[in-house]
Amino acid sequence: ESQRLRLPPWLKTSIPTGKNFSTLKEQLRKLNLHTVCEEARCPNIGECWGGGEHGTATATIMLLGDTCTRGCRFCSVKTSRAPPPPDLNEPINTATAIASWGLDYVVLTSVDRDGMYEIKSFQFSKINIFYRTKYYFENDKQFTHTAIWISVVDLPDGGSNHFAETVREIKRQNSNILVECLVPDFAGDVKAVEIIAKSGLDVYAHNIETVEALTPFVRDRRAKYRQSLAMLKAAKSFNADLITKSSIMLGLGETDAEVEQTLRDLRENGVDCVTLGQYMQPTKRHLKVVEYVTPAKYQHWEKVGNDMGFLYVASGPLVRSSYKAGEFFIASILK
Ligand code: SF4
Ligand code: SF4
Repeated sequence: ESQRLRLPPWLKTSIPTGKNFSTLKEQLRKLNLHTVCEEARCPNIGECWGGGEHGTATATIMLLGDTCTRGCRFCSVKTSRAPPPPDLNEPINTATAIASWGLDYVVLTSVDRDGMYEIKSFQFSKINIFYRTKYYFENDKQFTHTAIWISVVDLPDGGSNHFAETVREIKRQNSNILVECLVPDFAGDVKAVEIIAKSGLDVYAHNIETVEALTPFVRDRRAKYRQSLAMLKAAKSFNADLITKSSIMLGLGETDAEVEQTLRDLRENGVDCVTLGQYMQPTKRHLKVVEYVTPAKYQHWEKVGNDMGFLYVASGPLVRSSYKAGEFFIASILK
């Protein structure tokens, strides 16, 4: 029985307060927007919402509901095989709210909407017949269980048109707002990538999350390391002006050589920006933290990344994929 690691001092943070923070919070309630910043109780909320040196306030908005069709072992978002259908008015309502909110940089993200299980399936029109082997863990041992069932395809476009519409509507209402979309892998569907890449957004983000060897144990079984790289590369091939971005969680048991290789793989697939931060176990049922990576190590990765030629590298224990994204974006284009 392995013991849970103690939280090191650099990860202890206080709940943000302050005037700017409460004003934004109040506005949000009125606009009926859901932010990852709040739902995930992100410790960076004070810094992101407040804007930094360049005064560029960033927030991360969730689209397509709060229920995911996948189940990654590090993530505490609710999952279901058939989440409720998306709100068709969401793109316009979100855009109107964002435009009136006075944000400079917005990250749009979503749950995955691709039907609960991959594995062997055949499709007749919109009906999927699944033959699935479920992999699950108990006491750190892997077990398998096989089942057959029928399910309706969730969203055939993975929600890509919903994203694209929201981007277009934000830009129509206020073309100065910088928009980043942090999107799923769309199960390898390049058409979905193209729809988003050509929607008028500024930054296309998709998180690789971890090194190749740990991918099957950390991410949902449908997520593939090479597929994620291919999706990032495809985004750029559809729109050469796009900035592409990805994120890696540390502390899951990866080696230094593997982290370095992941950075190199991202760079080789044209990814411009990368963030590295500490994995935190959301509940006891989720993956355990293997290591609390030291601040000095994060500085090391920042240097390695910069030497590889990334446009920017945000690396630190509390860094999340959207951490001060607006600030970094402005800083990197002023470079
Ligand atoms: Fe969480 Fe994975 Fe769903 Fe993303 S795809 S919301 S990380 S379970
Ligand atoms: Fe929000 Fe991301 Fe900043 Fe956290 S890091 S406060 S989720 S924008």
